[in-house]
Parts: sequence; C-alpha cells; structure tokens
Amino acid sequence: MLILIEQLGIGAADLAAAFLFLYGLHRMSSPVTAPSGIFVAGIGMAVAVLASFLYAFGVDTAARSNLPMNIGLAVVALVLGGGAAWWSGRKVAMTAMPQMVAIYNGMGGGAAGAIAAVELFGNKAQGETEVIVTLLGALIGAVSLSGSLIAWAKLDGVINKPVRVKGQQAFNALVILVTVAVGAYIVVASADKAALVLAMPTTIYLFFGCALALGILMTLPIGGADMPVVISIFNAFTGLAVGLEGYVLQNPALMIAGMVVGAAGMLLTLLMAKAMNRSVSNVVFTNFGEVAKHKQGKIKGSLKPIQPGDAGIAMRYAASVIIVPGYGLAVSQGQGKLFEFVKLLQAGGVSVKFAIHPVAGRMPGQMDVLLAEAGVPYDLIVQLEDINDQFASTDVALVIGANDVVNPAARTDKSSAIYGMPILNADYAKKVFVIKRGEGKGYAGIVNALFYADNCDMVYGDAQTVLVKMIEAVRGLNLPAVA
Ligand code: NDP
Repeated sequence: MLILIEQLGIGAADLAAAFLFLYGLHRMSSPVTAPSGIFVAGIGMAVAVLASFLYAFGVDTAARSNLPMNIGLAVVALVLGGGAAWWSGRKVAMTAMPQMVAIYNGMGGGAAGAIAAVELFGNKAQGETEVIVTLLGALIGAVSLSGSLIAWAKLDGVINKPVRVKGQQAFNALVILVTVAVGAYIVVASADKAALVLAMPTTIYLFFGCALALGILMTLPIGGADMPVVISIFNAFTGLAVGLEGYVLQNPALMIAGMVVGAAGMLLTLLMAKAMNRSVSNVVFTNFGEVAKHKQGKIKGSLKPIQPGDAGIAMRYAASVIIVPGYGLAVSQGQGKLFEFVKLLQAGGVSVKFAIHPVAGRMPGQMDVLLAEAGVPYDLIVQLEDINDQFASTDVALVIGANDVVNPAARTDKSSAIYGMPILNADYAKKVFVIKRGEGKGYAGIVNALFYADNCDMVYGDAQTVLVKMIEAVRGLNLPAVA
C-alpha cells in the first residue's frame, strides 16, 4: 500500500512538474510573459522537491529507523538553501546578476557531483552502464562547479586577469587523459567487488580531484570577451550532469529538469556564439582561453566633448534617434531617467527606438530587463539584426554606457579580440553622442575608434546625471508637444 502511494504520488508529481517546467520555459520566450514563466517553473520545482519526500514511503524496513533524522536534515537543508537564495535574490544588484548566475550554476553542478559521490562511495551504482553514467555526471558536474566558481571570481573582480602559462593546453589535455584513465579504472574495478572495496575510495577522490582541477584549468585562461559563452556552456553542463544523475537515481523530475536546463543552456550557447561570431567548437576546443594578442594602431581623430544640455537639445530637434544602452546604463541605474527623456523626445515628435546587442551588459537579456524595469514599451525595443540597417538613415545614435558592442574594430581590425563579433552600426548614424564617465575601456579592454570619429561627440559624466541634465535642458526649451 505504502509503495503504491509512493509510486502513484511520485509519478503524478513528476508529470505535473515536467509540464510546469516546459510551460514556464515556453512563457519565458517573451519579455511580456517571462515573469509569470519564471513563477510557473518555480512552482514546478516546488512540486518536484516536495514529491521527493514521498520516497520516504518506499524505504525498506531496515532503513526506516533513519527516516526521521534524514527527513529532518533534508528540511534543514531546504530552509537554509531556500532562505539564502531568497535573501541573496532580493538583495543582489542588477549589475551583479551574472556573478549570481555563475554561483547558482556552480551549485547545480556541485549537487549533481554530490549525488554521484554518494552513489560511488556507497557502491550503489549497479552494472557497467550505471557506473559510466554516474561517472559522466560526476565529471561534468565537478567541472561545472569549479569552472563556475572561477567564472564568479572573474566577474566579481576577485580574479581580474586571465591566468595563462606556456603549455597550458597540453597540460589540460594531460589532466583530461588522467581523468578518463582513472574513470576507466573505476568502471573496470566496479565489476570486481573485492577490488572495489579496497581500491575505490582513493581512486574516487583522485577522479573528483582531477575533474575539479579541469574546471579551474579550463576557465582560468579565459579573457573577458569569451566569458558570456563560457557561463552559458557551464549552464548546459550543469543541466546535463543533473539529467545523468537523474537517470542513475531513476528520478524522472531530475532527468526532465536536467535535460531542459541542458538543452536551454546549449541553445543559449549557440545564440551567444553566433552573436560573437564564434563557432561553439572554436570556443570549446580551439580558442578556449585564447584572446588574440592585440596591438592597436594609432587611432585617427580626437575626442570631442559636448555639454549634456547641448546634446539633449540637438536630439529634441532631430527626426529620429536610436538609443544603444550598455553596461554603464546598468551601473548608473539611469533607466528611469532615460525613459523620461525618451518620452520628452516623443512628445516633440521624435521617432525613438532602442537597439539591443545580445551581449550588451554583463549577461544575456540584461538590457531588455533594465528597460522593462523602467516601463519602456516592448515595441520600441529592437534586436541587433532587425535594427542594424536603420542606423544609416537615422539622425542621432545615442550610446549610453556601451563600448565594445559599438566598437568598429570588430569589423575592421583582424588582430582585435572582438574581430568578427557583430556590432550595432551606431557609427553609421549621421550624428553620434556617447555618454560615459571618461576614457574607461569596455569589458574587452580595447580603445574604441568610434569615440574619435568626426561624427561623434562625447558627453562625459555618469549616465543618470547626464540624462537628468538633458531632461532639464529640453524642458527649459518650453516647446509645445507635437500632437
Ligand atoms: P562595455 O563593458 O564594453 O563598456 C561599458 C562602458 O560603460 C565603459 O566603457 C565605461 O566607460 C562606461 N560606464 C561605466 N559606468 C558608467 C556610468 N556610471 N555612467 C556612464 N558610463 C559608464 O559594455 P557593453 O555593454 O558595450 O559591452 C558588454 C561587454 O561585456 C562585451 O565585451 C561582452 O562580451 C561582455 N560581457 C557580456 C556578458 C553578457 O552576457 N552580456 C557577460 C560578460 C561579459 P567609463 O569608465 O569611461 O565610464
């Protein structure tokens, strides 16, 4: 009877959770429905977590005495983990979101690795296939854990330079070979239970040690420009590891959640690689960790400062303006003031659009979220491939805290780290205004020739402060609104 309750309950809950995950994911495909999509997927996760307590009905009599203790520990873990996630999720600044994603991603990989460790140390994996799948999940989960922690440290500025040594790729290949050899030994030894008991613990420690080292070694040399793709790859890894461990535990909810995360992560990786003009195999195998050594030639032209008020008034008299938001807008939290300024321009009959680069900011979709937060209508927000042809016929491109995503070196300079990355064609507009605080470089650390171009003026200052001055200047004109 108890077994029946367990099986029926878990089956129904897994089905419901799977439906909620997929439906939630479907709703995340548009910014309008995304918040409810996240909520629906969250309910799915809660259902899956609660359903895992039903496994208590199926434990054999020998293990039953440990049940209260184990359930207690699970509840404590849930309260601590859930509480920490709730608190940090509410507190985190929008600009620190990528670090948070990296950490959470690493936790997922670590959880998959921990399941594998319990299976391996407890000799629970039965048969060759199950041992191989457990080891694969352990490898991918551990790589994702240590790699994501390094990604966090890089994004948070704890590690602020790519660490590269001579022969690194060859050393990484050696570590991969050792890991595979140790894994193969575990598979062979697992068939012989006597050898298993004697030799396994040290071997399993060695296997996990190599896998963790691999994640660190792979991520340390990676430069800024590759970081978005790397985080996305680790996301796909975590999903795959969780799915594999779900197979080992024969837990459908874990399998489905893992595969959904793995597939979504892989699709995101493909999209990001396309946005940076890199093939995934190039990122993973060829250039992993390499950013072309770059000597920038002397840039022609000069930086031409202009007052915020003058730039604001020039835009009020323009017919069309395309705004390119970047990381600096998120830093200054100027999105509210930006929309206020946009409404003033629109009231004067100016056509305004926002151009979004897929890797603007520090995480995919960051600019969309920022503008949605300010209440900017979705029909004003246009993605790179749909707006790039419109710059040439636009009066003003207003670049706010963006740098790499409008750097023409990506088109022209073959030795540049960002060569080949599609950029927003802001430089093709008749006039360009760039709001930034000074001569700070972007994430890729390259000087931007656009800022020196004849048609470009620099509006120096924090983005929010500059936008306030632009608003004051346009309001000061006291022009009537255009019907
Ligand atoms: P960039 O990092 O290229 O440039 C941001 C610019 O904003 C800087 O040059 C800085 O100049 C300026 N800035 C900073 N703070 C302020 C402020 N308060 N007010 C005004 N300006 C400010 O940003 P982009 O968005 O153009 O490009 C994103 C980069 O980040 C790409 O290289 C991308 O590959 C990388 N990346 C993207 C991720 C993603 O998933 N989106 C993840 C990780 C990295 P100054 O100091 O002079 O003010």
